[in-house]
Amino acid sequence: MCEHCCDAADQPRLARRSMFKFAAAAAALAVAPRAFAANAKAPPKPKNVVSPDAALDRLMAGNTRHVEGTGKRHDFKHEREALSGGQNPFAGVLSCADSRIAPEYCFDTARGDLFVCRVAGNFASADIVASFEYAVQVLNTPLILVLGHESCGAVDATIKSLKDGTTLPGHLPALVDAISPAVKAVQGAGGDTLANAIRRNVMLNVENLKSAAPILAQFVDDKKLRIVGGIYQLKSGRVELMT
Ligand SMILES: [Zn+2]
Repeated sequence: MCEHCCDAADQPRLARRSMFKFAAAAAALAVAPRAFAANAKAPPKPKNVVSPDAALDRLMAGNTRHVEGTGKRHDFKHEREALSGGQNPFAGVLSCADSRIAPEYCFDTARGDLFVCRVAGNFASADIVASFEYAVQVLNTPLILVLGHESCGAVDATIKSLKDGTTLPGHLPALVDAISPAVKAVQGAGGDTLANAIRRNVMLNVENLKSAAPILAQFVDDKKLRIVGGIYQLKSGRVELMT
């Protein structure tokens, strides 16, 4: 076989080989984004496929039932099979870890309805931003509520630590660092410092989530995601919205 023939015979083979290499590389590149792509499966809870505004209306209607003591009976057995294959929560909630809040109860929701992240002082750490990125991009969650509450011990401890110049024991200074921007913002403003700091902390973390590039900020810009704040009132159970 002459050189020319050899070249001619190999050319398609080489082209095919290059094509396979290219396809393999493209597939490898696609693996990571695909693992974080929107879920293409049929949603296990079709009622949870709602707009951001409708999600907020539903959340607040659930809170009204919670306040009035007219909560629904949640049949966990009935939903178990549908939820074993996936989830599509209609709202994310960033709540304080305080045992008196319980977001699923406070919005009268069932399993698969809320994507809840909790930390004392309800602030958006990198881990929590990442968790909500998963909820929004993969699970198509259209709403996030940052839920502060009255008499928050984490905010109160931060106020005292900053006022006294003391360093709290253990890992507690991490909470103080995260909550102190809200406390510093209301210092000297008069009124109830704890109540003001709780509200400011919610507002700051709403803004932090709204501006969390590239994922949450883009979804907010595209109006596929709404992020709001609220304060849970301990005596009534009512959530006061701060939109
Ligand atoms: Zn708290």
